[in-house]
Amino acid sequence: MEPKFIVDNNVGKLAKWLRIMGYDTLFFREKDDGEMIKAALSENRVILTKDSHIMRRRLVTSGRLKAIHIEGDDPKGQLRQVVDTLDLDCRLRPFSLCLECNRGLLERGKDEVHDLVPPYVFKTQSQYMECPSCHRIYWQGTHWKAMSEELEKLMLEK
Ligand SMILES: [Zn+2]
Repeated sequence: MEPKFIVDNNVGKLAKWLRIMGYDTLFFREKDDGEMIKAALSENRVILTKDSHIMRRRLVTSGRLKAIHIEGDDPKGQLRQVVDTLDLDCRLRPFSLCLECNRGLLERGKDEVHDLVPPYVFKTQSQYMECPSCHRIYWQGTHWKAMSEELEKLMLEK
């Protein structure tokens, strides 16, 4: 089973990249560490944080709870650290999760998105995905290509 994550406020950009790769990642927005630890334990999630207090918690030092102390401030470097530490697969299921809600995307036919995407997109794209939660429509446009290239680079550097 591939790891699932819970990402602390102070390394929020990591959540987006892990979701792009297809890793189930919760973004923890509240201040209470205890709540984050509870969520991590109950759903068996790896904590990603810059907070060294969490790393000193007994649950973490005893190994019951897995946590990675993120170094550095550059999101790419942070992602590199997580990918290397857990030997993650950047090609796991790219673009299968909503970047906003972490929900699995559903395939949509061209006729279903006609009124939901800009006309130039409709003309040039044939494959679409929809988030069942926020109903955002995704397609393989230029933004998607740029992110794919970033992931490929990450894999090559491994
Ligand atoms: Zn969504």
